[in-house]
Amino acid sequence: MLIIPKNNGSISYVTLENTIIFDKGYLEMVKVVKFGGSSLADAEQFKKVAEIIKSEDSRRYVVASAPGKRYDDDIKVTDMLYSCYKLVKENKDIDEAFKLIEDRYNGIIKDLGLDFWLQPEFDRIKNAIVHHAGRDYIASRGEYLNSMILAKYLGYDFVDAEEGIFFTENGVLDTEKTNEELTKILKEHTHAVVPGFYGVMPNGTIKTFSRGGSDITGSIVARAIGADIYENWTDVSGMLMADPRCVKNPKVINTITYAELRELAYMGATVMHEDAIFPVREKGIPINIRNTNKPEDAGTMIVSKVDSNKVDTVITGIAGKKGFSVISIEKSMMNAEIGFGRKVLEALENHKICFEHLPSGIDTMSVVVNDNDFLPVKETLIADIQRKTKADNISVYNGIALVAVVGRGMAGVKGTAGRVFGAIGNAGINIRMIDQGSSELNIIVGVAEDDYVKTLEAIYNEFVK
Ligand code: ASP
Repeated sequence: MLIIPKNNGSISYVTLENTIIFDKGYLEMVKVVKFGGSSLADAEQFKKVAEIIKSEDSRRYVVASAPGKRYDDDIKVTDMLYSCYKLVKENKDIDEAFKLIEDRYNGIIKDLGLDFWLQPEFDRIKNAIVHHAGRDYIASRGEYLNSMILAKYLGYDFVDAEEGIFFTENGVLDTEKTNEELTKILKEHTHAVVPGFYGVMPNGTIKTFSRGGSDITGSIVARAIGADIYENWTDVSGMLMADPRCVKNPKVINTITYAELRELAYMGATVMHEDAIFPVREKGIPINIRNTNKPEDAGTMIVSKVDSNKVDTVITGIAGKKGFSVISIEKSMMNAEIGFGRKVLEALENHKICFEHLPSGIDTMSVVVNDNDFLPVKETLIADIQRKTKADNISVYNGIALVAVVGRGMAGVKGTAGRVFGAIGNAGINIRMIDQGSSELNIIVGVAEDDYVKTLEAIYNEFVK
């Protein structure tokens, strides 16, 4: 991404594909910046965060996670809080466990040289935990306390998420109410820190999102304030084109659309919480994944659309997962039998199984299913399909890995599928299943699990190297 300051004092953001994401007066620009746990794990990290925030006036709304790991086998404060909850459940003392949490925060305060005192907060929280406070309330205190420190350090206002993020009775985000209230509250503050990860239920109790949920808070805040951009600061320089455990030194994706991200995330490639895209997606606010430890890196831009004339890469990313089975159903004259597919899908529905893909031939229909759901009901499901369809033969192939090749650049480009299959074939790998979405955004292949890594490498090398 290039940042082009203009001589009239405004600024444009231009991706590497030359798509102008926005172009407006610098002074009007508002960024919401979210920092993950590793970015706020200790005072040294806090200093980096403050430097990043202070380097641009537009970074006015900050969402903070709880202190994460400082080193590999360190413990996240959120996990320490969950342990306290567990100890109380087991009627055990929490003095020692809670002291470690206090020490973590006191260490940050001291090393930052802040004249700040959280003891009354610690006492109140500890008392609540001992008196059987809810699990979500306890977990949320990690973000709450960290945000108080960050607000103090930055000289920003502290705005508690429980004032403006609301859940419905069913525990889902109350989007409308949240938007309305949070917008009102944030407008009263020019600079604010909001704790991530939680909101409030209609009965006033605290509820958290699922793990990693501060990403969602960042997105909600960005939407509520109508941010120009949502910067999500973490410990990697963006989303990689492939899993680095399988492909050596994969490149960072410069620009990805929300739709592509969904495809890759579904296959397990994520840089942030999956649900974080929804609030900003609706408003077309771009997300920029950035690295707190390498702020000079442009990171990955997640946008709603990229001008199709400017697309210069065929594929955006590759991701995959093991643990699938293919149920292959054969029956002669299947193609002429009205309702055949419905019978198969009904059997799946009866067993509460979602199917992943349905590649079909003239007299065969294959259903790709996730082993976690399928294996426990395998025998009864197959019997049910047999009974309903009177199939000639049903075979099950286990140990299938799915690999998704995703790219907006594939649409309308002839020969892409051929290159994917050719690369896999040249690597000596047998393709067990092929599926291509009609949007031409992805091509999915099924291979034996043992060929999984080789398949990713082959495709990556074909398109990227
Ligand atoms: N602290 C929470 C967790 O560890 C939420 C977050 O960091 O986003 O999952």
